[in-house]
Amino acid sequence: MGAEWMADGKCRDYPAEVFFPRDGLGVLAAQRICKSCPVAAQCLEYALAQHIDHGVWGGCSERERRRLARERRRLRILHRDAS
Ligand code: SF4
Repeated sequence: MGAEWMADGKCRDYPAEVFFPRDGLGVLAAQRICKSCPVAAQCLEYALAQHIDHGVWGGCSERERRRLARERRRLRILHRDAS
């Protein structure tokens, strides 16, 4: 997956540290920006594919991405076992 979508990210208008918050309030502030980002879906898929551990990507916190990745793995196993 390429990264050309990054040119359209709303985060380009903010300092990078906004998206690498130190606390929950910072996460919420970043997520507010991501909410209206036109490339949020691509951003989230990129972060998941690249196993990016830190920061808010695609409107998801680190914890949310870990949960999503776990859920996708679980579903892949279910589908694999069902076929
Ligand atoms: S979803 Fe958030 S982190 Fe991703 S490109 Fe958009 S503003 Fe940046």
